Amino acid sequence: MTLLADQIQRYSRQIILKDIGGIGQSKLLDSTVFILGAGGLGSPAALYLAASGVGRLIIADNDLVELSNLQRQILHTTSAVGEAKVESAKKNLNALNPDVEIITISQRVTENSVDSLIDKADLVLDGSDNFATRYLLNDACLKQKKLLVSAAVLGFEGQIATFAHGIDPKAPCYRCLFPNPPQSAPTCSTAGVLGAAVGTVGSLQAAEAIKLLLGIGQNLIGSMLLINTFDNIYHNINIAKLPDCPTCGSQRQLI
Ligand SMILES: [Zn+2]
Repeated sequence: MTLLADQIQRYSRQIILKDIGGIGQSKLLDSTVFILGAGGLGSPAALYLAASGVGRLIIADNDLVELSNLQRQILHTTSAVGEAKVESAKKNLNALNPDVEIITISQRVTENSVDSLIDKADLVLDGSDNFATRYLLNDACLKQKKLLVSAAVLGFEGQIATFAHGIDPKAPCYRCLFPNPPQSAPTCSTAGVLGAAVGTVGSLQAAEAIKLLLGIGQNLIGSMLLINTFDNIYHNINIAKLPDCPTCGSQRQLI
């Protein structure tokens, strides 16, 4: 893809990065990212991916914008309260960068729909807020051989990891990390969440996605970055592959 004069100007601070350049920018413009959730994680992730010129974003969310979302879901504004999140997202992302094609899916992602929804994506970014959806995307990404950038945030803390189990059989998956969902897990609506913490983690998801799309830098495949914005402690831990993982282990039953 040849960059137009406007594009060279728009992305100039990125193009001058030696690890990106014009070739990397063209590659981003040719890339498609599927984002599940236009909420706390999806907001900064989608904004930075759109601003950086990832050519096509497919955004799935079936919620409406609520007033209580706005403290952290910075893709939406007060006037969008009551609107479908994906419509509000599309409007604001188009206003930020009309270069980017925004495809919206305003329905719940289910076992029946997930395969066709992620089919066209080069990479999947999980901004969901529940274990069932994380498992659903994890299993679909194995079948479809997609990279999955997964994250979660609660309170002042968050975590981010990349799963490449569909591409590299030696790489662990989300179920290797969490084989079973917890019986009862606190949520943002019951335990609270700092907007800037979820913004930090969503921005890291965007940075990770860009590096993976371009094949540059150090990625989080096989490891997880833990972020504690309260105590300012950030560390990286390795994730072991579970030999009997039901998704990616040798006895797997899902594919
Ligand atoms: Zn696994």
